[in-house]
This record gives sequence, structure tokens and C-alpha cells, in this order.
Amino acid sequence: MDLAELHKIFLQHPNACTDTRKIEKNCIYFALKGPNFNGNKFAKDALNKEAAYAIIDEEQFHIIGKTILVADVLKTLQNLASYHRSQNRAKIISLTGSNGKTTTKELIYSVLSKKYKTIATEGNLNNHIGVPLTLLTIKEDTEIAIVEMGANHQKEIEFLSSIAQPDFGYITNFGKAHLEGFGGLKGIIKGKSELYDYLLSNKKHVFLNADDNIQEQKLSHYIKKFGFSETNKQYYPIKFLDANPLVSLEFENIIVRTQLIGSYNFTNCAIAILIGKYFNVSKTDIKAAIEGYEPKNNRSQLIKKNEHRIVLDAYNANPSSMKAALESFSKLDSENKILFLGDMFELGKTASDEHQAIASLALKMGFENTFLIGENFFNVATSFQKFKSFEDLKNYLKTIILKPSSILIKGSRGMALERIIENL
Ligand code: ATP
Ligand code: MG
Repeated sequence: MDLAELHKIFLQHPNACTDTRKIEKNCIYFALKGPNFNGNKFAKDALNKEAAYAIIDEEQFHIIGKTILVADVLKTLQNLASYHRSQNRAKIISLTGSNGKTTTKELIYSVLSKKYKTIATEGNLNNHIGVPLTLLTIKEDTEIAIVEMGANHQKEIEFLSSIAQPDFGYITNFGKAHLEGFGGLKGIIKGKSELYDYLLSNKKHVFLNADDNIQEQKLSHYIKKFGFSETNKQYYPIKFLDANPLVSLEFENIIVRTQLIGSYNFTNCAIAILIGKYFNVSKTDIKAAIEGYEPKNNRSQLIKKNEHRIVLDAYNANPSSMKAALESFSKLDSENKILFLGDMFELGKTASDEHQAIASLALKMGFENTFLIGENFFNVATSFQKFKSFEDLKNYLKTIILKPSSILIKGSRGMALERIIENL
């Protein structure tokens, strides 16, 4: 079956599913394979749950009239998504970068959906499967699609760009995330810039944070269409006001009071404002959209418990987001500040140095108390209290009472440091 034909079938059943536990009636089930599962084996199950068709790539699971046999289900999903994208008029804005992609995506979505029929990546579906699934949610009347692209090695963003064919792109930052797969910061800059390479060679547009030195230097040869900067008059000025703890900022004499903690969220809001301006969303709608956005899933959330003011940032961590979080927390107006820092994963050979650097930075900043959790932090040379495992910390917390404090909790997802809260 050729792509155009398959696309016709998709338009009659415009809902792609990949998980038989979440099958929706009339969807098309894509029988993907993973290291520990073979989706072909679940095709029958999907059809029993009233999927319209199952796309499979193993003949033995073929059911005439119900399954569509292709050479490779994943490739078919990607090709169909790319074809679907090219058949629609929606403008695509793609985001990549080391930190802040999902937050920025949701802020841009809040702003643009005030005026346009907008779709965006659901949650964090930002890889070679998530990007195609996102593109397949574009409808005939969709005007703008915001597509998050994640990567942990070279050529991944290039590939995702070739599928999504974005019209606009923004890189949140070049930080130390997935250092292992990219081979150092240079590799990260190269890998993330693949988005801008695609846009440049296709004469599309780049949104730019002109206050970010790396972006400014790195991008001098790209078409810098639009950018914001607090200081540079050449760009659209958006001013950082405060982050104590919630970020507030100003554009065109309008003050925006966000529900976001962490000065790094200024940048995430600023690009959403800039894109809103570019697409002619009114100032008042932009303000309302940003102010109405609340972070979810342990991403920079502000929680109050037992007179503690807790900055819960346990969604993920890497050296650059850890540094950004510490810097922001250190500026908080508060007497008594405590850190709970958990291991950062995927750092490869640099793990020991990067954990040591964070411990040293925390020491230099001089917080009231710092607790380090995890095997990597356990091995650093420091005077801070260290706990090899979460259980060890939990047992320790039972023996002490913390006075009312401002508390920062941050660590990689696998550390699940949100568990600390119930033990405070
Ligand atoms: P993932 O790689 O998991 O998709 P992401 O890039 O989508 O992550 P978010 O989920 O938006 O990032 O944010 C995760 C964490 O990154 C936040 O909780 C915060 O600690 C940090 N962060 C967010 N924005 C920035 C930024 N602009 N600069 C540095 N750190 C940031
Ligand atoms: Mg994300």
C-alpha cells in the first residue's frame, strides 16, 4: 500500500494509537517494537478493542481486512506523519534545547491558542515516535502546531526536522544535558543546531534569545529573523523584573506576574511573548496566557508544607539546570535555605567531576544546610551530609525536625525526590 492510500485510510480514522492499554475506538493501531515487546503480538487485542486497523510488520499476525502489512511499522508511522504534515497548512514551530522545552512549549501553546487553532506535543512525546504521533494530531483546521523535539545524540534533531518540516524553530539553550550521548558541550551545540541547519537550508525562520552568548555567536551565520533581548535594542526588549520566588517580567509597559519559579523561567516566558507578538496575539491575551499557566509534574512547583516553602524541581536534573536552579534559589529572599540535591544521570565519564562541581557551587553559595542524595553525590569530597540512597535519607529525616525553611529539591527523574515532601 502506498503512502497516499494509507493516508486516505488515516483520514477516515484520524487517531493513531501505539499502546493497546489505551486503545480508543476507531483508532489506527501501530504495532511498534521495543527492546522488550513486539507490538505485532498485540494487534489482535487492539482490534478486539475496536481499533479500526492495525498496522503490522510480521506476516504471521496478518488478519485479512483488519491488518495492514508493511515492511517496517516505525518507518511507516514516520513517513505517514511526514506526509500528513505536508498535506496540511498548519505552521509548525519546533523546539529543542537542553532544558525547558516542555515548559516553553506549553507557554507558547497557552499564548497562541488564544487566537489560533493550535495543537502541541502532548506531555513529553518528543522522540522519533512522539514527534510523528504529534504531527498526526494536526487536523484540517489546525493553524499552528508546536512540536517539541528531544535528542540525546547527533543527527536525531536533523531526522526529526526532516519529518516535521518546521517553519520556525527555537532552541531553549545549550546546556549540559545528555553529555554522554552528545560527547561534550561542543557536541551538544552541534546536535541541537541541527534544527537551525534545517531551517536555514529551507529558508525558514529562527527565533532567537539574543541574551544567550552561545546562540549569538553560534548563530551569526543563520538568518536571525526575530529575537528578544533585555539589553540589545536591535531585538524586541523583554525585561526581567523579579523572581522572588515567582518570576515577573515586563514588555511594552505591561507587567506579567507568572506562576513560575526560577529565574530561568524568564527566558521560557520571553520567547512565548515574542512568538505571541510575531503572530499578532494581543498584549492582554499574551499577559493572561502567561499568568494563567501553572507548571505540572514536579517541574519548578512551589509547595507549602509545615511552614516550609518548598521549590519542588524533581522532574529532572543535569549540570546546567542544576546550576540554574541553585543560582535562582540563592537569590531568593529568605533567611533559612536548605538544599536536597539528588544525582544527575546520563553524564558518562564526566559524572564525578560534574557532581563535585555542583557540591562546590552549593558550598560557595553558602546555604544553611545541604543534603546530597545518591551514589554519585555520595562519592564527592565534601563536608555536606551525604546519603547513598533515598531510604538512608528517609531514615535520617525521621530523627530530625527542620525549622521552617525555604527548601529546594532537585534531582534526576530516576531519583524521584518528590518523595522527600511526605517525609518533611
Ligand atoms: P526533557 O529533556 O525531559 O524533555 P525539557 O527540556 O522539556 O526536559 P522541562 O520539562 O520544561 O524541560 O523542564 C525541566 C526542568 O528544567 C525544570 O524543572 C527546570 O529545573 C529546568 N529548566 C527549565 N527551563 C530552563 C531553562 N531555560 N534553563 C535552564 N534550566 C531550565
Ligand atoms: Mg520535555
